[in-house]
Amino acid sequence: MVTLTATRPTAVPTTYPTKLLIDGHWVDPLDGDSFPTINPATGETIATVAAAGPKDVDRAVKAARQALESGPWSRMDAADRGKLLYNLADLVEQRAEELAALETLNCGKTINDSRGDIQGVINTLRYYAGWADKIEGRTIPVRGNFLSYTLRQPVGVVGQIIPWNFPLLMLAWKWGPALACGNTVVMKPAEQTPLSALRIGELAIEAGFPPGVINLINGFGETTGHAMVVHPDIDKIAFTGHVETAKIIQKNAADTLKRTTFELGGKSPNVIFADCDLDAAVEGAFHAIYFHGGQCCTAGSRLFVEEKIHREFVQRLAARTQTRRIGDPMDPNTQQGPQVSQEQLDKILGYIALGQKEGANLVVGGNRVGDRGFFVAPTIFDNVRDEMTIAKDEIFGPVVGVLPFQSMDEVIERANRTHYGLAAAIWTKDIDKAHLFAKRVKAGTVWVNCYHVVDATTPFGGFKMSGQGRENGEAALEHYTELKTVTIRLR
Ligand code: ADP
Repeated sequence: MVTLTATRPTAVPTTYPTKLLIDGHWVDPLDGDSFPTINPATGETIATVAAAGPKDVDRAVKAARQALESGPWSRMDAADRGKLLYNLADLVEQRAEELAALETLNCGKTINDSRGDIQGVINTLRYYAGWADKIEGRTIPVRGNFLSYTLRQPVGVVGQIIPWNFPLLMLAWKWGPALACGNTVVMKPAEQTPLSALRIGELAIEAGFPPGVINLINGFGETTGHAMVVHPDIDKIAFTGHVETAKIIQKNAADTLKRTTFELGGKSPNVIFADCDLDAAVEGAFHAIYFHGGQCCTAGSRLFVEEKIHREFVQRLAARTQTRRIGDPMDPNTQQGPQVSQEQLDKILGYIALGQKEGANLVVGGNRVGDRGFFVAPTIFDNVRDEMTIAKDEIFGPVVGVLPFQSMDEVIERANRTHYGLAAAIWTKDIDKAHLFAKRVKAGTVWVNCYHVVDATTPFGGFKMSGQGRENGEAALEHYTELKTVTIRLR
């Protein structure tokens, strides 16, 4: 277990791997470039990191192809693939403090959130390690004198493109099922947060993954990411990020008819009924929006509150919000660190200004905190209307809109009136209401009297434009295997 100690991290790295990991070696780019990576708490440069160009993407794909078709990985027993994932999980556990510190340094999440993420990484790797030798086909009672059975085989070389909000956890969600199923991987971390992936790349080599099975190439979306999406020898792209980026990827992937899975954004409804446990619901609404500064695709950013308790609820949430400690994310007493970048800071402040312009009632927050780093005060807008931009767009910051409602039918209709469908939550003591809501709301995950409970074992993904496919749980295996039917004539 990664312990959530009330201490500053004991080991903050001062040197970092910065090259590309291709075919088991750390190499300089052939036609790429380099870019500075920033500490969002200070705005200062931490390191300069290599960026892959199209030739580097091609090298990585060739290494992954060779490892898939003819290297030791191609002949390895499934149980041994699982063993490598267990090895990696053990190494992550041993280096948990260092990895958590690196995540906080580069991403700005609080040290305790980073520690929680590292535990999630370990859980995910172990969960999929266990699956490696349990991925089975079926025998099928086919007509005629034949024996038919199915094999589940790797999709092939998979390109994985991840965002900056949970750098290592998103990596584990993608590596775990891909490797358990026997694929080989070319991964591009987000340009904002390249460092922790490179460190875990070192651990993957130490864990014993053969050369070419895991390749890590940093770089920008429009260059490195694009080169992956159009590469003819990548079989699948697994992407987590914004809807608009996914649309571009889907179009660009069309020429090679790549398989794609998408885990995208949300504008998740968090619905509070008057018959809830009020203390728990206030705490739940607080956690739902402010966890990791709202930089979560599942953030509970549309807070529907039943009219009867609306006024009291907003008062209590505002009081709780004012207690939130913002500051140095390495300090274990800090509850909210900086937003990830200047760009995100500007975007969030722009939405706050728009909320005021559109007539929503700013209750608390609404401002930048300090003038160094990218900190935003937790912000509540009350009396938000469905048609306001802040009720429709994903803000990806600590900004919640409160929307009063009167009945179940009304709130379900309004909750579903969005092109997103990632998550939803309901707070009530009435079991009938809870089940009815869970059945009718259009979302990939529904929480009852809880929020942000996500586990390696449970499928995660979106309805509508929040995604395609599912990650985590057994569901992810389907997206990392091809189904083959074998039919044999019997004499
Ligand atoms: P954000 O705006 O939060 O960075 P994005 O969806 O743009 O969200 O980024 C998520 C990931 O997608 C990042 O790794 C980014 O580099 C990558 N990306 C962005 N644009 C493209 C693209 N056109 N093709 C492939 N990958 C992309």
